[in-house]
Amino acid sequence: MITSFDNAAQILRPPEHGLPYLRSNRASELTLDPGGITVSEEGTITALESTPDAHLRIDATGCALLPGLVDCHTHLPFAGWRAQEYEQKVTGVPYEQIARAGGGIASSARALKETPNDAVLHQARQLAGEMLQAGTTTFECKSGYGLSRDGELRSLQLATELGRAVDQQTTRTALLAHSIPHGYTADTWMDEVEAMVPAATEYVTALDIFVESIAFDLEHLDRMGRLATDHNLHLRAHVEQFTTMRSVPVALKHNARSLDHLSAIHPDDIEPLANSTTAAVLLPGAEFMGKEATAPARALIDAGAIVVLATDANPGTSPIFELPTIIGLGVRRYGLSTREALLATTLNAAYVLDLAPHTGSIEPGKRADLVLLDCPVEHVAYRLGRNPVAATFIAGEPVYVRPDAAWRIMKR
Ligand SMILES: [Zn+2]
Repeated sequence: MITSFDNAAQILRPPEHGLPYLRSNRASELTLDPGGITVSEEGTITALESTPDAHLRIDATGCALLPGLVDCHTHLPFAGWRAQEYEQKVTGVPYEQIARAGGGIASSARALKETPNDAVLHQARQLAGEMLQAGTTTFECKSGYGLSRDGELRSLQLATELGRAVDQQTTRTALLAHSIPHGYTADTWMDEVEAMVPAATEYVTALDIFVESIAFDLEHLDRMGRLATDHNLHLRAHVEQFTTMRSVPVALKHNARSLDHLSAIHPDDIEPLANSTTAAVLLPGAEFMGKEATAPARALIDAGAIVVLATDANPGTSPIFELPTIIGLGVRRYGLSTREALLATTLNAAYVLDLAPHTGSIEPGKRADLVLLDCPVEHVAYRLGRNPVAATFIAGEPVYVRPDAAWRIMKR
């Protein structure tokens, strides 16, 4: 079935074809010209104009057409929520007291352990459905709430099953060093991690670690970097979220694919990160919900970094799953232009997941993962909290159509 997208008011396009990523200081080169797109029967973009010969026509009059949004940092799948903990946090209950009462990562670990597979998958699928309605066509899954060898491997198996059950394209990351499980030190847990990496490689494309004063340190990051190289996986890391640890030089030595959070990055580390091919993944939802420091996005962009925005979707620190909301928060918090924010949630996010060769931008030969907005792109951040998605397409197929946009999709 050939599909034609007709008469869009704006189509977000990269300045050249075949880019693995675009440094964010070049975001102004993205174009937003009006036009159409033709998609082949195989779901690939074949032409940057509409065709009269289509079997399916999408009337995009007045709409913006974007590449499908890519969420490169989520903690799906998990079990349950931590709403009560959020209420305690915002009303000023000290974190130590919440943790002593069994809150925090330990609470999600317990919930995951106690919840049967089908219930975990049911919740995750529902969330993936919400993400589809907000334009996410690709997302990353992570382990990290297993906190034991069996728990972590189960989590990666569940993530794999989730990937088969949802419309989106998904990838998996093993966050094997998330929190130090009871009965271990950081060092002895890293011994366990080293022993489980060979089994995890079957499921994942990247290894991840939480580097923080309350979790793992630079030596552990260095060790995770070596494990990633030895097993031909990407290194990713949660770094500089609360404490300035100076993780950046260590991670760059291992050619990390991304460094995530960075709210507390040392000023001297901005330039080297910006000059590297390691993406800076910023998480404005987590910063906002946790009342954290603001990552120096503007400085990173101006220095030439590959900047990415993601949800960090998780039941504790960022229960936000909609990238349009994250774009709104990122634009306000970091002072991003619309093009910078869109680049950060499409091509550059696809680069983090190693999917840029076939997703993340609108160009011939790429998969037709597309989002139709009912408004100009500038409204996404401006009308904060409103979902602008009229329809979401994966490989050219409409997988979500908002009822009031149904008239736009015409079969012949
Ligand atoms: Zn995270």
